[in-house]
Amino acid sequence: MVKIISFLIKFLNIFNKLSFQFECFLMNFLPNDPSSIVNSVPYKRFNVDLVPVIKPESMPISLEKAIEEYKAKHNGKEPKPINRRIAIDFPKSTKCPHCGASHEYIFDNRSGKISKQLRCKICGTTFSPDKTYSQEIAHYCPYCGHKLTAVHDRSGYTVYKCQNPTCSLYKSNLKKLSKQQKKEYKINPSKFTLHYITRIFDGSIKQLENFTKTVRASKVELRNIRANRHTLGLILTYCINYGLSLRKTALILREVHDIKISHQTVANYAEAVSHLIEPWLDNYQYDCLSKDHCGDETYVKVKGKHAYVFFMCDSVSKIITSFNIFMKRDTFSAIQTFYAVIRKFKAIPEGFNIVVDGNPIYKAAQQYFQLNGINFDIHQVIGLKNQDETSKKHRPAKQIIERLNRTFQFSYYVKNGFSTVDKANEFMYLFTTYFNFLRNHKSLGYNPPIELNRFKDEVNMPKKWNMIIDMAYDYDIEQDMQF
Ligand SMILES: [Zn+2]
Ligand SMILES: [Zn+2]
Repeated sequence: MVKIISFLIKFLNIFNKLSFQFECFLMNFLPNDPSSIVNSVPYKRFNVDLVPVIKPESMPISLEKAIEEYKAKHNGKEPKPINRRIAIDFPKSTKCPHCGASHEYIFDNRSGKISKQLRCKICGTTFSPDKTYSQEIAHYCPYCGHKLTAVHDRSGYTVYKCQNPTCSLYKSNLKKLSKQQKKEYKINPSKFTLHYITRIFDGSIKQLENFTKTVRASKVELRNIRANRHTLGLILTYCINYGLSLRKTALILREVHDIKISHQTVANYAEAVSHLIEPWLDNYQYDCLSKDHCGDETYVKVKGKHAYVFFMCDSVSKIITSFNIFMKRDTFSAIQTFYAVIRKFKAIPEGFNIVVDGNPIYKAAQQYFQLNGINFDIHQVIGLKNQDETSKKHRPAKQIIERLNRTFQFSYYVKNGFSTVDKANEFMYLFTTYFNFLRNHKSLGYNPPIELNRFKDEVNMPKKWNMIIDMAYDYDIEQDMQF
């Protein structure tokens, strides 16, 4: 019987691999960037993937670099803290948004002006302590270079629009309208989105924390099916570890294990486990995180549309620290992704750095954290070949995350897309638990990134899944007792 199962799994895995390779082959004929696929319905709220342009001079620099530049301008002299005669009237937590210098290096630059303006002694940047992130930094249209205007204030973010009547995007969208639509546009312009529009996050760190706390209701109550824990373990092993579809999992349970269960029940059980482990995994205290992290985006389908998985992982321990799926590849998504990593640390380690691709959203996200007093470095590996020193030095980290993407694509393949973003993220919790705690990695001496003591001498995978479920239950009870 064991032989039959392993033969079946081997066969299904080979089939999966082949069909995945075939899909990759087909993908080669599609444009690489999904944003370049032209939307055939121009007046619909389409997904614009291009991010707003931030002028290079307003991009953050490291404090070391700012000090170096200061010394070059001042005959090699180190910058000294400001010798003040009067006490400062801005908070001590104020930091320079450009280089991250502390309040000791910040001047009151008002000189008769009504609104408060501060200036950094080290890099010379002037800024206002009362302005939010998006108000402080000017963003420009990626199509025409026109400065963007704030049009709506939402909770945590502001919607910006390019209002340039000669913008190339606006003009080309206008051209796509039919005669009838043009008439409609004149009467009711708000029904159409022809101009470039983007969201820029300017909420507080506290708001970011609230975004991560979501309580979801499950279709089944796990505690009521506890008699069937072994079946639960089998379901997770087949669906997540071996990457089988819900239908194939139900089929194996029935034909091999004599367990009659529908594929919908398989889905409901997996959903309930995902909801149970969500708070446990979000707040799991990894004590072996390094200062070197890497990140990348990969695509999945949600309701037939492209969505983005933002993976972040520790380059040394291989632990996945962020794995959320977003419908948009914008600064807001990048900020939430970085935040998921940052909140894993009690304090940001010295030299903390993240290697990512050349997408400017990461720089913009770094700037958001710098304005909130959280400093770290970003290394951008650009293109497929090393054309600059940064790309050469940090490409190995990029390759780590690309391998993770391939492992993920293998498990994701049979899912054939998700019906909602929530459903997609449910799968991510299960996949990440598998990757961090259950999957043996060749580069880690055939051990998982986190070696749990309770797994010692245990090889049975359904039992291991049940141990994880118990840990999540214990975490749940501990949380309840705190309130
Ligand atoms: Zn500065
Ligand atoms: Zn424009």
